[in-house]
Amino acid sequence: MTTPESRPAATSSTAAAADAAEPVASVKQHQIRRHRGEGQWAKGHFTPLNNNEQFKKDDDGLNVRARIENIYSVRGFDSIDGSDLRGRMRWWGLYTQRRPGIDGGRTAVLEPHELDDEYFMLRVRIDGGRLTLAQLRAIATVSTEYARGTADITDRQNIQLHWVRIEDVPAIWRILEGVGLTTAEACGDVPRVILGSPVAGVARDEILDGTPAIEEITSRFIGSPEFSNLPRKFKTAISGLQDVVHEANDISFVGVVHPELGPGFDLWVGGGLSTNPQFAKRLGAFVTLAEVPEVWAGVCGIFRDYGYRRLRTRARLKFLMADWGPVRFREVLETEYLKRALPDGPAPAFVPPAERDHVGVHEQKDGAFYVGFAPRVGRVDGPTLARIADAAEAAGSDRVRTTADQKMLILDVAQDRVEPLIEALDALDLQVRPSVFRRHTMACTGIEFCKLAIVETKALGSSVIDELEKRLAGFDTPITININGCPNSCARIQTADIGLKGQIVRDAAGEQVEGFQVHLGGHFGADLDDAGSFGRKVRGLKVTAVELPDYIERVVRRYAAGREQGE
Ligand code: SF4
Repeated sequence: MTTPESRPAATSSTAAAADAAEPVASVKQHQIRRHRGEGQWAKGHFTPLNNNEQFKKDDDGLNVRARIENIYSVRGFDSIDGSDLRGRMRWWGLYTQRRPGIDGGRTAVLEPHELDDEYFMLRVRIDGGRLTLAQLRAIATVSTEYARGTADITDRQNIQLHWVRIEDVPAIWRILEGVGLTTAEACGDVPRVILGSPVAGVARDEILDGTPAIEEITSRFIGSPEFSNLPRKFKTAISGLQDVVHEANDISFVGVVHPELGPGFDLWVGGGLSTNPQFAKRLGAFVTLAEVPEVWAGVCGIFRDYGYRRLRTRARLKFLMADWGPVRFREVLETEYLKRALPDGPAPAFVPPAERDHVGVHEQKDGAFYVGFAPRVGRVDGPTLARIADAAEAAGSDRVRTTADQKMLILDVAQDRVEPLIEALDALDLQVRPSVFRRHTMACTGIEFCKLAIVETKALGSSVIDELEKRLAGFDTPITININGCPNSCARIQTADIGLKGQIVRDAAGEQVEGFQVHLGGHFGADLDDAGSFGRKVRGLKVTAVELPDYIERVVRRYAAGREQGE
């Protein structure tokens, strides 16, 4: 087990050098912090400062697996230790789901155990969004046999199942691991699933294929004690295209062509949405494909050693980046972790956000086609996943992909099999040529299963799509609508044209009902090395869930009437 005490001495000996670079303006603030300590291991602060740090120090989260297999799955839910139940089980992709019938108004006032159901959400990590048909069928089987048919594609390319009993978890692992899938570190204070381009290796316009780097990082570091105790979650994106929201990850490798060194990656660090959203910062460093795992481990090591561990609300890497800035971050990375300088590199060229998803029919570089389709707000089910596998097989494909927009792709389809595939998917209500509303609406898990939720999201998102398709038939400008059940932004509130943050609001009669704070005009990317803009919170603009279709219709009609040429 990795403990704070077992950290290499070198990390703490470097603290003085790092401190020396602190800007004068913030010296007083930092003196106060140093006195109190932020729980940074590199500065010798090993005493746990909150319950999460304590349980992580007491036992590595990865060790809960043996207890699940040998004790909890045999003796049942009531035998589960409290620190395992609400802490370490996440290291294997398990969260208790919300007890049914508790309204969103009570989310903040109830104790965690009052919100816990005896069933679990199980997150299957799908690094790079890559699935074979055997893997897709395995997930379909688990969904159908052990998860009441549930399956949601997340905006991090995972698939989440619900209603999982602890007694069934070992059998589920046997099915998933039998086809090379895992739930290891799908949740928890660890390196989460690695986003990768869903069209890596097949896209005609990709700069390079990041798949070898994703494979090496997952095989070397996922499930390893080296990074199984981070201050909080650590999100990664690697793509030779700009299709995996690199601006919103803790570390991103974005495809660029160096004028002398050729294709490689531009390094971005410290992005994250949720509360206190920050776009990732470019370090201005160029990384070759072969160097990606080493640089990834360096940045992850900085987070482990220097990341803040006092307050959970300040523990993401973006807060360290906000204090250090990209220049100092790069200097610490190069001098303390890599022991060499990285070459400077160019910024990625701007790709309009609307071109980042892969819905529709697209020719691959080998002459075959990939077909992207849009489940409603990412929701599918076990039988549907099995039928998708059947449709892909009938079209001659063995490769399926999930996207960072809650969509799916089938690769390697011969031209003459494209239309029959589209028809087969259409019969499953999986549209390859969807309306802009179906294509660009996302919703997080919401109150149906999430213990932090204040409002319902998935069913609402689906009904909003239906309404808008009827009322605004033919409208074809991409408008992103992201529906979140609370301020945590799992469906990226701040980067949507219309971002909706769930909260309890008052309706016209003064009654407290489910509704949303509205954010307008957010987007990723705008210009060369600019990461984008967050949507503006429209002060006082709150809309009830019932009024949502009317409100969006008004916004869209007003926008359509007033937009400028080419907008
Ligand atoms: Fe749950 Fe909030 Fe995340 Fe939605 S945004 S899944 S409600 S934590």
